Amino acid sequence: MDKDSDIHRQDWKTILSHSIQSPQEAAVFKEAHDPRLSEVVKRYPMRINPYFLSLCESRGEPLKRQVFPDAAELDDESGWTDPLAEDRDSPVSHLTHRYPDRVLFLVSNQCAVYCRYCTRKRKIGHWPHVKDEVIEAGVRYIAAHPEIKDVLLSGGDPLLLEDERLDWILSEIRSIRHVEIIRIGTRVPGVLPHRVTRELVRVLKRHHPLFMNVHFNHPDEITDEVRRACRRLADSGISLGSQTVLLRGINDDERILDVLFRQLLTMRIRPYYLLQADLTRGTGHFRTCIESGMRIMKRLRGRISGLAVPYYMIDLPGGGGKVPLLPSYIESLDPVQIVVKNFQDRLYTCPQPVPGPPEENSQNDVL
Ligand code: SF4
Repeated sequence: MDKDSDIHRQDWKTILSHSIQSPQEAAVFKEAHDPRLSEVVKRYPMRINPYFLSLCESRGEPLKRQVFPDAAELDDESGWTDPLAEDRDSPVSHLTHRYPDRVLFLVSNQCAVYCRYCTRKRKIGHWPHVKDEVIEAGVRYIAAHPEIKDVLLSGGDPLLLEDERLDWILSEIRSIRHVEIIRIGTRVPGVLPHRVTRELVRVLKRHHPLFMNVHFNHPDEITDEVRRACRRLADSGISLGSQTVLLRGINDDERILDVLFRQLLTMRIRPYYLLQADLTRGTGHFRTCIESGMRIMKRLRGRISGLAVPYYMIDLPGGGGKVPLLPSYIESLDPVQIVVKNFQDRLYTCPQPVPGPPEENSQNDVL
């Protein structure tokens, strides 16, 4: 029996418990014996579960580079340990309240793999278990702030919590009347699809309306198991969107992203954000320049349906929040006409409406 079929017969906790945590355990990779890597994983822990390791072995560099440590992590002194100032805007532990109507609630300290480019690299693998008191204090904060309509659960990865614990957290948040939607940010469906069990889906279904942002970076992450997991989530009525981080040498090519975004749509996942990599210390070797992201977005517009094109977003360092980076198509605009450049750089002119008398019964009269 081959190794892959062995993995697929195990339950998700068993698979996770066999994760490798040191470069030497991945001796199949030629860099595994670089002595500096032990220092890297002391500072930034490593975790690759056997399912994803076997994908790295069979599908190669684009997956391996996302999770396998690199000595460049030690050499990079640019950026910040907390580039988005999440800890500064944290009124209670594990909760960030930046936008008036939303909070980010970090409910889990576990991930199915540790991504080398992670924005929370400062915490990943170092966090203690998130205690009940921390969750309760976060829930009390949300309940005391009626302006909060939207709660984003993240971590770590919320889907690595036990079913009962996730159910408890979701029930507590759902019981707050002013919370309208709950979102879950997760990489689990793409890196440990075995976790998306029927029982998990039964729990999630109890807490609609529920949105899930699923993290995918490369089409090689999509396997039959991943498709099955996403089908289960979509069938349960969860609205699925994707988040992709633009990573140098991994997916910074419109042909790769074209394939990824089309495949996501076939799994009923709407491409939502293409994220400029954050200015996190130890991740400089992954960062692309903004011009290259803009170029990719412009080329994607011409290649694929608008449904498959995500927003290209930058999360401003220092806590400025997320802002879309939009290629400029407008060449000139005046009261008579607009001149617009299309995706092939051809110019088109569109006349403005002829100004007429003010409309009767306009919105302003009604209001
Ligand atoms: S799954 Fe998300 S939180 Fe965990 S290491 Fe990867 S990017 Fe960071």
